[in-house]
Amino acid sequence: MSADDKKKAVLANDRFSQPSLPSLDEIRSSIPKECFEKSLPTSIAYMLWDFALMAFLYKIEPAFELAGYPGMLFWYFLVGMIGFSIFVVGHDCGHGTFSPYQWVNDIFGHVTHGMLFAPYWPWQKTHRAHHTYTSHVHKDWGHPWITEEVFSNFNDINKFYANNVVTSVLRWFFYTIAGITDGSHFYPFSRVFKTNKERVQCAVSGAVCVAWATLAFYYFGSFSQWVKFYVLPVMAQGFWLTMVTYLQHQTDDIQVYEDGTWGYVKGQLQTIDRPYGFGIDQLMHHITDGHVAHHLFFTAIPHYNLMKATAAIQEKLKPHGVYRKENSYDFLWQFATLNRRLEYLVGEGSGLLTYAKSKKED
Ligand SMILES: [Zn+2]
Ligand SMILES: [Zn+2]
Repeated sequence: MSADDKKKAVLANDRFSQPSLPSLDEIRSSIPKECFEKSLPTSIAYMLWDFALMAFLYKIEPAFELAGYPGMLFWYFLVGMIGFSIFVVGHDCGHGTFSPYQWVNDIFGHVTHGMLFAPYWPWQKTHRAHHTYTSHVHKDWGHPWITEEVFSNFNDINKFYANNVVTSVLRWFFYTIAGITDGSHFYPFSRVFKTNKERVQCAVSGAVCVAWATLAFYYFGSFSQWVKFYVLPVMAQGFWLTMVTYLQHQTDDIQVYEDGTWGYVKGQLQTIDRPYGFGIDQLMHHITDGHVAHHLFFTAIPHYNLMKATAAIQEKLKPHGVYRKENSYDFLWQFATLNRRLEYLVGEGSGLLTYAKSKKED
């Protein structure tokens, strides 16, 4: 059997590769038209709501301090969560769904991402690559797919970094600053950028981040206060971002494709909607439980319309058994255990990669 015939045989048994699967246009036409309307006032209202919640958390911080380290740990957990909500608003700017005006999106994107030390234009670029090639083994950016071959070359430090949840507080920094694995988002000559325009954008967005960090330094008044009220909250936001991204794209039976077998719709359908409960989905603008809709129509549906679109998508995809949803009220536990269990993908060369079976049975 030739390599091409083998790939065909693999795909014949793949429910995501059936010819009857609705096309992107068919899914789009099942979604109410109003879901695609972008409203600047609505986006601004959500942003101001997030700012108000964040200001409130800073106001009541002394009460958490009374409970010592556990109290502060919980405060950082909450600050990171609302920081991530602000990140989601900036993420809409990057996708062009914050408003119909690009210049407005770029300004608010620099406000919301800059304060979280996330360089807006570089992150917009790598994140777009993630959306354009979701679940493609080599072309999906933002979170690398680890194949058996890559894993076999890992040393103990690599393994510890990839599989232990404790490293997740650092992953956002390593990803954006050091450039593991896509290239630095702060260094204009890193491999992320291909044109001079992109290099200039990198320098501008990086300068905005530094300006925010400097402003915070003067506002909080000393190095220790700056670390306490700026650096650690930024790291807490990075933890939420890492956890949410991981859980939207990782589960035991996730499928990853290669050149020749990957397709846009089936790639996006490897995304998982995960309700976190406790009001967290509402606070984080439904990026958790409306992620499939976001992935399919990332330049078209603003965050406040994701759930209406999700209901329509769910209905449309139900007969095909390809809509993924997992209740994740134990999201911290899920993150920690999946991160340990899902070490590497097998099946490279077959067109379809999955996590190693032996690990699933652990
Ligand atoms: Zn994603
Ligand atoms: Zn996105």
